Amino acid sequence: MSQYDVVVIGAGPGGYVAAIRAAQLGFKTACIDAGVNKAGDAPALGGTCLNVGCIPSKALLQSSENYHAAQAEFAEHGINVTVKGFDAKKMIERKDGIVTKLTGGIGFLFKKNKVDSIFGKGALKGQNGDLWQIEVDNNGDKKVIEARHVILATGSVPRPLPLTEIDNINVLDNEGALNLEAVPAKLGMIGSGVIGLEMGSVWNRLGADVTILEAMPTFLALADQQLAKEAFKIFTKEQGLKIELGVDVKEIVKTKNDVTVKYAVNGAEQTATFDKLIIAIGRIPNTQGLNVEGVGLAVDERGFIKVDELCRTNLPQVWAIGDVVRGPMLAHKASEEGVCVAERIAGQQPHMDFNTIPSAVYTHPEMAWVGKNEEQLKAEGVKYKKGQSGFAANGRALGMGQAQGFVKILADAETDRVLGVHIIGPAASELIAEAVMAMEFKASSEDIARIVHAHPTLSEVTHEAALAVDTRALHG
Ligand SMILES: Cc1cc2nc3c(=O)[nH]c(=O)nc-3n(C[C@H](O)[C@H](O)[C@H](O)COP(=O)(O)OP(=O)(O)OC[C@H]3O[C@@H](n4cnc5c(N)ncnc54)[C@H](O)[C@@H]3O)c2cc1C
Repeated sequence: MSQYDVVVIGAGPGGYVAAIRAAQLGFKTACIDAGVNKAGDAPALGGTCLNVGCIPSKALLQSSENYHAAQAEFAEHGINVTVKGFDAKKMIERKDGIVTKLTGGIGFLFKKNKVDSIFGKGALKGQNGDLWQIEVDNNGDKKVIEARHVILATGSVPRPLPLTEIDNINVLDNEGALNLEAVPAKLGMIGSGVIGLEMGSVWNRLGADVTILEAMPTFLALADQQLAKEAFKIFTKEQGLKIELGVDVKEIVKTKNDVTVKYAVNGAEQTATFDKLIIAIGRIPNTQGLNVEGVGLAVDERGFIKVDELCRTNLPQVWAIGDVVRGPMLAHKASEEGVCVAERIAGQQPHMDFNTIPSAVYTHPEMAWVGKNEEQLKAEGVKYKKGQSGFAANGRALGMGQAQGFVKILADAETDRVLGVHIIGPAASELIAEAVMAMEFKASSEDIARIVHAHPTLSEVTHEAALAVDTRALHG
């Protein structure tokens, strides 16, 4: 029977990174994963993120942005092109190529770092002394391996909507939404979270008439509300996305060719019929098949594996990371937890600050934020100063033809320490890195204001926002 120092179950961004780091630290490491490629005929490492999440969605977003730019923006630059049409099948093939390249890359990294990659479903069987026994089931072909430490990184799956079943023909989850080979004339979406908004943007830009139905009365309730309002205005008024809030979905009726949703808003009954309906109402932790009950692994009332701040479960030498535990369901959070756990097993004391985990939404314009928003600071009774600057007067943004949005910096009223940064605008997902760095280094807004930012760059808007905290913006 093979014995390891560390066995990781799940090779998403949490698990594969944990395995690589553990191997770098000198541990004999294996990573078990049951993921298969789109065709279903070969293993595919990388989990949700690489196969059906972050990477494919961004590939499609870029294709749809390019299409939109060629159609609607090139002329402004004096470039005269006739856009003959759009080949959704080719766009999907390009996306699949990127996925294949990256998932294959993890196999290469495993080899390079001497991580044993084992295909199959992993389940905790029990303990043999201080070793954990893990059963690996490769389509009925079972074997048992042993490990001193186990890291559970089994991720998450789409939250089902009890009113209907996903068939990935007319009612789609994220996987189906990433594989549409023709633009639906009318596309419905239940859920206006990050995934819903990104998918809605893609198909809207490609010409679909998109309606998003959201149960919450507030748009992007978790985001800073000034940013959320700006986004709502741009998406609905300028881009033509229809977003209905406070929706109570009553019934979903599927026929061969379409899907009808019956719903109520403020008690008023409504009906809408779509060619395709995407269900994007969040994700739930995935512990299926792990034998949670058999070994007494504690999970909370929502199904997340219970962990302490160090990612330790209630079982000795069993750790859990990523989407399957508390905290934001983000790839970079999963990866960082993976690194930290591997280093803790090695006796190191890495620290992870949950307050500086950035969020990014890859709509057009993008949104990104880190730290506290105004609503949170008010609720906590923290006195703060605010500095804001728009992209409208930024030379680089104007040159790019993307001068919408703003950067807002929130700093402690007394100490000036940066408490939160909220960006809506071009390349917000890249710009947020400066804010994360500043907050990690406990910077004040004056620190950012005194850093020389290259000209002309989008980052000058961050600089201006920092100056604005002290009411001394130079260009606003
Ligand atoms: C459409 C979409 C877009 C997204 N975009 C972003 C984004 O832009 N940025 C971002 O940060 N996050 C994004 N996310 C979220 C991100 O994908 C997740 O937060 C991330 O993948 C979580 O990583 P993980 O390692 O915890 O789990 P996962 O990536 O879910 O990986 C878990 C792995 O474990 C395997 N597994 C499960 N159970 C077993 C078992 N018993 N035995 C063996 N293997 C098992 C699964 O097959 C899978 O490969 C997106 C998600 C979706 C759906």
